[in-house]
Amino acid sequence: MRKFVIVADEKDNLPPGERVRRMAIQRLQSHRRAGITHWGRSPAPSPVEPVVEPVVEPAVEPAVEPAVEPAVEIKETATVQGVTEMAGKKGPAASLAVIQQEVQGCERCEQLVAGRTQTVFGDGNPQARLCFLGEAPGRDEDKQGVPFVGRAGKLLNDIIKACTLKREDVYILNVIKCRPPENRNPAPEEAANCRGFLQAQLDAIQPEYICCLGTVAAQNLLDSKETIGNLRGTFHDYQGIKVLATYHPAYLLRNPSAKRQVWDDMQILMKDMGIKIPS
Ligand code: URA
Repeated sequence: MRKFVIVADEKDNLPPGERVRRMAIQRLQSHRRAGITHWGRSPAPSPVEPVVEPVVEPAVEPAVEPAVEPAVEIKETATVQGVTEMAGKKGPAASLAVIQQEVQGCERCEQLVAGRTQTVFGDGNPQARLCFLGEAPGRDEDKQGVPFVGRAGKLLNDIIKACTLKREDVYILNVIKCRPPENRNPAPEEAANCRGFLQAQLDAIQPEYICCLGTVAAQNLLDSKETIGNLRGTFHDYQGIKVLATYHPAYLLRNPSAKRQVWDDMQILMKDMGIKIPS
């Protein structure tokens, strides 16, 4: 049996074990398509997290298995040296400008580089108290080079406005800076490749609060495997920054009934920030 596997791997020109890994993932995916999402003693999914296929916006709730392709190599983690120090000396705007240049020249993820129109760095107030963290640029963002400008972005603008804030008051950024093909979830390796840039942005801005929009953002930032249903509604800590996770606006477009929970989350956030909003 083992012999056959090795022979097949060689025949397909795959590294040893890769064929088995792919078969296992295909099996998982076919179970998922059949509606089987939990095995053994795993807890049942929360009713607030229906399984939805990604449509136009980047894939959001709920978390799915990491994509099989591409097998992206994790390149040396992106780091921008001395950003905190530079932010102190030159200010956050100048620091962000330096990081942005590095992002524009980044070629770590071959597939993303090949498909991108441009990188999408971030948008808003470099001195914001509050950052909104999404997952990845979609089609509109890739075209315009600005995060959250498509349908989900319009809904995010409405959320920000309902919190009595303006988009210019906050800073909006994503876990990865290039659009994944077909708006698939960022592969873990892609998120890892981009992590240094995200960290550098946060080091430059030094926000008091981060609001994670959706599973991908929350799980990546907090290095967690918890569902967004479990992560939302309470504060988490990320390097001394208060983090609140909530549903992604693209998810709300498909599941408007979850708006109530997002509004609850915004009330928790605004209250802690000392900003009065209508209940
Ligand atoms: N969804 C995201 O997560 N980020 C964007 O920039 C746009 C849509």
